Amino acid sequence: MAHFAHARVDLDAIADNARLLRERAGGTPLMGVVKADGYGHGMLPAARAVLAGGATWLGTAFIHEALALREAGITAPVLAWIVPPGEPVAAAIGADIDLGVSDRAILDEIVEAARHLGRTARVQLKADTGLNRGGVGPADWPQLVEAAARAEDAGHVRVSGLWSHFACADEPGHPSIARQLSAFHEALETADKVGLTPEVRHIANSAGLLTLPEARFDLVRGGIASYGLIPIPGYTVSGIRPAMTLRSRVALAKRVPADSGVSYGHRYVTERETTLALVPLGYGDGVPRAATNKGPVLLGGRRRTIAGTVCMDQFVVDVGDDPVRAGDDAILFGDPSTDPGVPTAEDWAEILDTIPYEIVTRVGARVPREYV
Ligand code: PLP
Repeated sequence: MAHFAHARVDLDAIADNARLLRERAGGTPLMGVVKADGYGHGMLPAARAVLAGGATWLGTAFIHEALALREAGITAPVLAWIVPPGEPVAAAIGADIDLGVSDRAILDEIVEAARHLGRTARVQLKADTGLNRGGVGPADWPQLVEAAARAEDAGHVRVSGLWSHFACADEPGHPSIARQLSAFHEALETADKVGLTPEVRHIANSAGLLTLPEARFDLVRGGIASYGLIPIPGYTVSGIRPAMTLRSRVALAKRVPADSGVSYGHRYVTERETTLALVPLGYGDGVPRAATNKGPVLLGGRRRTIAGTVCMDQFVVDVGDDPVRAGDDAILFGDPSTDPGVPTAEDWAEILDTIPYEIVTRVGARVPREYV
């Protein structure tokens, strides 16, 4: 039996967004980022859609995600960039997956696995240019590229890529952007001096590919914008449209008197006699509990606010005297051009002081994805 709610995913929107992003990036090849189940949209359908839209690379965080792409028959180049110790690097090498190298120990582990397999591993060395997350900083970068060059000469690895990641690309003009770009250029020069000849050099995420022509290099990595969400508050990109609509229906509607406390903790109290509509979606489905008394919903054709505490499986909306009935549509977020008045995932993010990535990625496994 299907869940009352569903997340409708428009695969044409993902393909069209990918096409638009490539255009915006001046034709630079695009890596579609499909980690975390395609930001909640479903990894395999999202991967096929971005490839249909012209992406030529796929990006995942983990090897197991990349292997799932291969198991589904996807042959496009894939980069998996978080490789903690003990990950199945041999399986990744066997499946022709490019592995992100964020420190020397990982390189050594990959070289060892490649030697054992008698194969050449494809590796992409990550320079930490100022995000101070993964990657090798300027002090250790020369030793890393020298070690990688030696392993390449020995046939154990092919250094297919050199890359980095921005800290503040979603804040255009942030001074760290220029600093990171200059550090990336230095890292590339150091790699060049030891004879590395990468196929791809890349640093730009969605925000970078949209706003920084000087950050395109050979490849841009488009995640959130492929799903139709813009990571820079207030910045619009014409033609990009949200792919996911989170939709449910009213399970029941009932009249209650004035002064009725609603949902756990009675954090909402009715001011007058009113109709309460129950929507069977809750934090068990990824609706943040922080949306208590805040989350916007399009219900009965009007934008309203969740009344009281978001529960595990349901929340309540006060619809006043409007003729709302069981079975009526309740849409949490989607595309206002197809459902006029609907909140967007960006609206949810702003109201909950988070980012749209979190809103779509956390839509739970209980909510079936319906692909159109
Ligand atoms: N590259 C890396 C290393 C990432 O971690 C991510 C996502 O977090 C992306 C690219 C894609 O970023 P965005 O979704 O902002 O385009």
